[in-house]
Amino acid sequence: MIEKLIADLHSHTLASTHAYSTIYENTLAAREKGLKILAMTDHGPRLPDSADILHFKNSVKALPDTINGVLVLKGIEANFLPGGKTDCPEKLYRSLDLVLCGFHNGAMPSQGRDENTEIALKTIRSGLIDVIAHPGDPNYPKDLEAIVSCAAECGVAVEINAASGAGSRIGSNEFCLLTAKLCKKYHALVSVGSDAHFMTNIGNLRHAIEFINEAGIPEEQVINTSMEKTLNFVIGRGHPHPENYLKLLETA
Ligand SMILES: [Zn+2]
Ligand SMILES: [Zn+2]
Repeated sequence: MIEKLIADLHSHTLASTHAYSTIYENTLAAREKGLKILAMTDHGPRLPDSADILHFKNSVKALPDTINGVLVLKGIEANFLPGGKTDCPEKLYRSLDLVLCGFHNGAMPSQGRDENTEIALKTIRSGLIDVIAHPGDPNYPKDLEAIVSCAAECGVAVEINAASGAGSRIGSNEFCLLTAKLCKKYHALVSVGSDAHFMTNIGNLRHAIEFINEAGIPEEQVINTSMEKTLNFVIGRGHPHPENYLKLLETA
């Protein structure tokens, strides 16, 4: 039974222009909520309302490891695209700390159930995404069971999105619970994120925790339960920079 998580692994800053807070404000909010890690995951460049590729490249250089006492993972919420590529090229994937990937209408409208599923499977197998963002979104019909079992096999985490559970994607509840149940069945790693587009929603993970507990997912499958676990996950996915964060922990 999970009660509290120390990481929020999906959030937006005003670099996505339909979001409204800075990373400084988001980390202040994260600290107030008792979080230790916040992943900054603005929308990938193929979404019209998103940041330029330079925003992502430079985040690793320009931002300190911790802001307001919260460790910041420099990430992206990339887009699934036709053919199974994303808008986060391999070089950028290696330089960032965390790469989510989701279906977004502005980047690629639904291609139908079979094609959506194929695109997701191919992208998961590419090794160039770490987390499937909001797979419970009913606007993109897909074979959730095939996707979750493939993710489990490939070590890609499946997101339980707290905002979907809170009503930002109408009709998600049934699919979020189904996703959670499939994660339990296939022992897939689970990642939890608020998908906050404003600072007051940072760390609001309650709806996701409810799905996880209702599905009976054991704590060890959830990557947000300790700093070591979150960091070892991203290091294991081939992101070199979080090694420095681990060192920070050791010397703390
Ligand atoms: Zn958004
Ligand atoms: Zn998002």
